[in-house]
Amino acid sequence: KKKIGVLTSGGDASGMNACVRSVVLYGLSKGCDVYAVYEGYQGLVDGGDFIRKMDWRSVTGYLSIGGTSIGTARCMPFKTRDGRLQAAENLIKNGIDSLIVCGGDGSLTGADLFRSEWDGLVGELLKTGRITSEEATVFKHLTIVGLVGSIDNDMSSTDITIGAVTSLHRICEAVDSVDTTALSHSRAFVIEVMGRHCGWLALMAGIATGADFVFIPEQPPKDEDWETAMCTVARQHRELGKRKTIIIVAEGALDRNLKPIKVDHIKDVLSDRLGLDTRVTILGHTQRGGSPCAFDRILGTVQSVAAVDAVLASTPDKPSPMIGMNNNQVTTKPLMDAVKLTHEVANAIESQNFDKALELRDPQFLD
Ligand code: ADP
Repeated sequence: KKKIGVLTSGGDASGMNACVRSVVLYGLSKGCDVYAVYEGYQGLVDGGDFIRKMDWRSVTGYLSIGGTSIGTARCMPFKTRDGRLQAAENLIKNGIDSLIVCGGDGSLTGADLFRSEWDGLVGELLKTGRITSEEATVFKHLTIVGLVGSIDNDMSSTDITIGAVTSLHRICEAVDSVDTTALSHSRAFVIEVMGRHCGWLALMAGIATGADFVFIPEQPPKDEDWETAMCTVARQHRELGKRKTIIIVAEGALDRNLKPIKVDHIKDVLSDRLGLDTRVTILGHTQRGGSPCAFDRILGTVQSVAAVDAVLASTPDKPSPMIGMNNNQVTTKPLMDAVKLTHEVANAIESQNFDKALELRDPQFLD
């Protein structure tokens, strides 16, 4: 009988619960045993009560709950070989040889590293008497399948990540709220949203709320003097009859010299140059989600069905798959290719190669 472990790791994202629910229910319907590993990799390292067998009722109500009910954590020990050795022992002792991980690029990198080391870890556990030779034979391979849970939509090779759309909805609601004040008082608002290396949330929120100007990491303002460029646009919109000014800034937004673009500086520029009554709103953790929107429930559900199917179809010679979404189809692609591409975008931004960053970033959102 196949025993599958499921865990959520890294930053929480709405729709992670839909994943866990779907892995449990579809896994059970396929005759598998499914275990939830609580608190991300920490639960894998600590074992014991952190690894719990799930039944049909364990996930009742999960679809509508935001974040992740089985917990997530940043886990330093898993970044060490000793930690992963402990994790391997706990998996084997629970009879689990397949792991579905829902998390961001860090979590998925860790998962693939774990799989690539597995052989050596099993050898060491055997040598030190922590597992039997029978266990070493049965658990010769570890299957890893990745699901991308991230509010930033920052993973390459997939059009959309689990949690991003819910987060976008929350941002829109928040901007709508300050919009009413902006309109009433004819004010300007500078709104900071999440996104360190990825401007998807900022850009999409800008379109969805009719913002005047958006700052994102992948495409710094073309002008050295972006302050003048921004003021020109804002002034023009005012002259055309707009009663409000909305500027949206991704937290990782940079100027052409890689200097962070700070919300307070934007506020001062709008106040000083245009005489606008300007306020700053930093949305912070309100944008992490709350109850998932329909899209993230669906995305988590259908991708997790594909994840269980990928576990059942896996063979030791195939690379670990990542379940993605491309052109409205659920796709299965090599996990490490996607992670590598994602890191290349971050590196391109850091080395000021913005054209390359744009090219590597799934470009349909930026055209
Ligand atoms: P995210 O998955 O959202 O990108 P992190 O980068 O914080 O979030 O990663 C979450 C966890 O995944 C880390 O706390 C760590 O336990 C594990 N992890 C991340 N990167 C690695 C790595 N290179 N090797 C092993 N484990 C990793």
